[in-house]
Amino acid sequence: MSTATVVGSGPNGLAAAIVLAEAGLEVTVVEARDAIGGGTRTAELTEPGLLHDVCSAAHPFAVASPFFRDRDFFRAESLELAQPEIPVAHPLDGAVAGHLSQSFDESSPMLSQDARRWQQLFGPLVESFGDVADDVLRPLPNIPKHPVLFARFGMLAGLSGRRLAKLFGAPETQALLAGNAAHIMRPLTRPATASVGTILTAAAHAVGWPVPVGGSAAIAQAMADRLIGLGGRVETGREVTDIADLDADVVMLDISPAAVLDLYGDRLPSSVSFWFRRWKNGPAAWKIDLALDGDIPWQSEICRRAGTVHVGGTLAEVVHAEQQIHRGVMPDRPFVLVGQQYLADPSRSRGSTNPIWMYAHVPNGYSGDATEVALNHVERFAPGFRERILRCVVSTPAGLQEYNPNFRGGDILTGANNVRQLVFRPRPALDPYYLGVEGHYLCSAATPPGAGVHGMCGHFAAQSALKRLGHGG
Ligand SMILES: Cc1cc2nc3c(=O)[nH]c(=O)nc-3n(C[C@H](O)[C@H](O)[C@H](O)COP(=O)(O)OP(=O)(O)OC[C@H]3O[C@@H](n4cnc5c(N)ncnc54)[C@H](O)[C@@H]3O)c2cc1C
Repeated sequence: MSTATVVGSGPNGLAAAIVLAEAGLEVTVVEARDAIGGGTRTAELTEPGLLHDVCSAAHPFAVASPFFRDRDFFRAESLELAQPEIPVAHPLDGAVAGHLSQSFDESSPMLSQDARRWQQLFGPLVESFGDVADDVLRPLPNIPKHPVLFARFGMLAGLSGRRLAKLFGAPETQALLAGNAAHIMRPLTRPATASVGTILTAAAHAVGWPVPVGGSAAIAQAMADRLIGLGGRVETGREVTDIADLDADVVMLDISPAAVLDLYGDRLPSSVSFWFRRWKNGPAAWKIDLALDGDIPWQSEICRRAGTVHVGGTLAEVVHAEQQIHRGVMPDRPFVLVGQQYLADPSRSRGSTNPIWMYAHVPNGYSGDATEVALNHVERFAPGFRERILRCVVSTPAGLQEYNPNFRGGDILTGANNVRQLVFRPRPALDPYYLGVEGHYLCSAATPPGAGVHGMCGHFAAQSALKRLGHGG
C-alpha cells in the first residue's frame, strides 16, 4: 500500500489527506500545534464559555466548494451550518447601511436605484452559482466548464474593485461592493481586484455566509473524523523541521513557499526555488476578540442582524484605507471586519455576554498598535460600543505568524493577490502543486485557487499526486 504524509492540518491539508485516503493510501497528517485545523480553529479566547473563531469565521467558500459539495460533506458529517439573517452589512454615517440578504430582492441594491443593473449583472451568477464556483475554485488559466457563465463572471472579476462599485449609483451599494472587494487585500484601483468581491457577493445571495454551529473548528473536526473513518491518522504537537524525517511515497505540504525554501534548501530544483524566492506576501490582519456586554449598538438596525459587518465608510474611504496599508502606512480609519457569529449560533455566547470577532487591515508586519483606531472606527457607526467591552484580546501580525507560519507578517491569505499570483500560484507551471522533487507536493492556500476554507487546493494537489502515482486521479 502506498503511503502519504501530510504536513499541516489546515483545511487544505485535511482535504488532501481525505482524497488520498479515499484512493486507498495509508495517510498520516502531522500537525505542529496541539490542536488541528490551521485557520479553522475555535477557542475561548476572552472568557470561559465564549467561543471565538481564531481565524476563519464566515464560510461561503466551504458551501460553494466542489470538495465539500461532491461528498455532501456537511450533511454526511452532521455538521450544522447556521445562516445569519443578513450575511453582510456595510454601515455609512447616519444609520444608513448597504446589505446583502439571501433573498435577492430584499437586498439593499435591489431596493434602490441600482435594482435593474444589480439584477442584470449578478442575477445570472446567483442563479447558476454552483457552476460559477466550479470554474472559480480551480487553477487558472484553465478551460472553463461553463464558458458563457465564466465570461460573465470574468467581465466583473477583471475590473478593479473601485470600477465595479462605480457601476452602481447608490452610495450604500458602492460601499457594500468596496467592502466585499476589500477581502482581496489589494489596492482597489488595480485590475482584477473585483474578483473576490464578485464571488463573495454572488455567494451571499446564493448560499449565504454561514457559520458552523460551535465555531469553525467544527469543520476541521468533521474533516479529521472523515479521514480517521477512512483509516487515516492525525498526529498533533509534531513540527516537521527536516524533510528527510518524512519517509512516504507522497509528501503533501500545507505550508507557505517561504517555509518550503527553509525545509528543502538545495533539494528544490532552481525552476521552483526561483519563483518561491519571489513569492510576495500581502498586507496583514490585526485581530481583535472581544467579550461584549450585550450587542454592538449599531445605529443601523440592519447591522444588528448581520453576521458580518464591514466597517470602512464610503467607497472612497475604503479605497483610501486599502491603498495606505499597501504603501505600509497605517490609516486613521482602517477597513475593519466585524463578525457577530453568535447571532446565528447562540451556543457561542454565555448569558448576555457575547463573543465579537474582528480584524483590521494593516500593513504587513505592522508593529505599531492598531487596536485603538480599529475600535474607534466601529464606535463611529455604533456609539457606546466601547463602553460594552468587558475583555479584549489582540493578535498582532507577528502574533499571527507565530500562531501559524503560513500567515507571514500577518498575511492571512498566504500570499499577495497581485495579478501574477492570482493567475500563476505559486509559480507558472502546468502542475503548480508539484515541487519538482519526486513525490512532493504543495497544497496550501499559496496554490490555486488560493485562500479561504474550501479545501480545493488540497483536493487538486492530491489529484496531482495520484496521477503521478498511476492512480489516474
Ligand atoms: C484572522 C483570519 C480570518 C479569516 N477569515 C476567513 C473567513 O472568514 N473565511 C474563510 O474562508 N477564510 C478565512 N481566513 C483564511 C483561512 O483561514 C485560510 O485561507 C485557510 O485556513 C488556509 O488553509 P490551509 O490549509 O492552506 O492552511 P492553514 O489553515 O494555514 O493551515 C496550515 C497548518 O499547517 C501547520 N504547519 C505549518 N508548518 C508546519 C510544520 N513545519 N510542521 C507541522 N505543521 C505545520 C500549521 O500549524 C497549520 O495548522 C481567515 C484567516 C485569518 C487568519
